[in-house]
Amino acid sequence: MGITTRSYAAMDVKTELVPFTFERRDLRASDISIDVSFAGICHSDIHTVAGEWGSVLTPLVPGHEVVGTVSAVGTSASKFKVGDLVGVGVFVDSCRECENCTAGLENYCSNGMTGTYNGYERDGVTPAQGGYSNRFVIDEKYAVHVPANLALEGVAPLMCAGITLYSPLKHWNAGPGKKVGVIGLGGLGHMGVKFAAALGAEVTVFSHSENKKADALAMGADHFVLSTGADAFRELASSFDLILNTVSAEIDLHPYLRSLKLDGTLVVIGLPGKPYSLDASVLLPARRSIAGSMIGGMPELQEMLNFCGEHNITSDVEVISAEYINEAYKRTVASDVKYRFVIDAKTL
Ligand code: NAP
Ligand code: ZN
Ligand code: ZN
Repeated sequence: MGITTRSYAAMDVKTELVPFTFERRDLRASDISIDVSFAGICHSDIHTVAGEWGSVLTPLVPGHEVVGTVSAVGTSASKFKVGDLVGVGVFVDSCRECENCTAGLENYCSNGMTGTYNGYERDGVTPAQGGYSNRFVIDEKYAVHVPANLALEGVAPLMCAGITLYSPLKHWNAGPGKKVGVIGLGGLGHMGVKFAAALGAEVTVFSHSENKKADALAMGADHFVLSTGADAFRELASSFDLILNTVSAEIDLHPYLRSLKLDGTLVVIGLPGKPYSLDASVLLPARRSIAGSMIGGMPELQEMLNFCGEHNITSDVEVISAEYINEAYKRTVASDVKYRFVIDAKTL
C-alpha cells in the first residue's frame, strides 16, 4: 500500500541531493492527495540539509513551497475537489487545541507545529517528507486554495517566502505614510518589496549586491541602498518605521537599528543558525524594538494568496529541472538567484 512518490532527498547531512523513491501514506478520511506541479527552493531547505539548524532526519526530502492539483480526496474531505489548484507551506499539522491554534496562528502552536519535513507527523512514526516530490498527501485543513489567475510556478514561493513577509508587514501596519526597509533581495526579500509596495508603504531595499538595484526598483522599491557602501547609512538615521531583515547570514544589525525612528521595529526573519550580537544602547534612545516573525497561520496564508490574486503578485522565478537542485543550492548561497529557484515536478 502507500502512494509511490518520486523525489530528491538528502541521504546524509552536507551531501548532495539524489533521486529517491518512497511511499507516502494512504489517504486518511480528511486528507487530500496532490499531483505536485512546482516546488520552490527556500534557503531554509539549504540551512536544514547543511545541518546548520541542528539534527537532520534522513533520508530527508526538503521543500515547503508546494503547488499542484488535487488528485484525490478522503472520504470526509470537503474543502477541495479533484482538479482544484492547491498549495502547501511550511507546516502540515499542529495540535489544533492550544490558544494559538484556535486563533488561527498554527505557525505558533504552543505544542509545536508539524514541519513539512525533517520530523515525524503527529502519529510520531510517519516521517514528514517535503515538496521536492511528484506527489503529496496532507490533511485538507493545512492546504490552501490557489487563485486561478496566477502563473503557478510563481505561486509556489508564496507558500513560504510570500507569507513570511506578508505577515510581519500586516502585523506592524505597513501602509501609506510608513517607511519600510527590506534587508536582502533574495527569495523572501523580493516578496517583501512587492507586498510593502502594494500596501502603499515607502520601500527601501538594503542589498549587498549592486547589480540588483534595477530589479529592486522594478519590483516597487522607492530607494536602493548598497549596504556595503561607505556612508551607506549616514542619511538614514532615525527614519524608518519598520525594517525586515531577511538575510541568511549573520549581519551587523546596529546600522539598521540606528536607522529606526521613535518606536520603530527591526524584525528578524533570516535565521543563520548563529547568534546576532546586540549592543542594547542602540535601542534606548528611540524606544526601538527588535522582534521576530515566523511564516504565518492558515487563515493569513489564504488571505495572502487572495491578496496576490487581486493584485496580480507572484514571485520572480527561475524554473529548473530536478537534476539542477544541487547547483541551485550553491547559487542561492552565493546570492545568485532571480529571485527564487522553482523545481518543475515533471522532471523528478
Ligand atoms: P535567499 O534567497 O538566499 O536570500 C537571502 C539574501 O540575503 C540574499 O539574496 C542576499 O541579498 C542576502 N545575503 C546573503 N548572504 C549575505 C551576506 N553574507 N551579507 C549580506 N547579505 C547577504 O534566502 P531566503 O530563502 O530569502 O531566506 C532568507 C533567510 O530567511 C534564511 O535564513 C531562511 O532560513 C530564513 N527564513 C525564515 C523564515 C521565517 O519564518 N522567519 C521563513 C523562511 C526563511 P542581497 O544580494 O540583496 O544582499
Ligand atoms: Zn521557507
Ligand atoms: Zn497548537
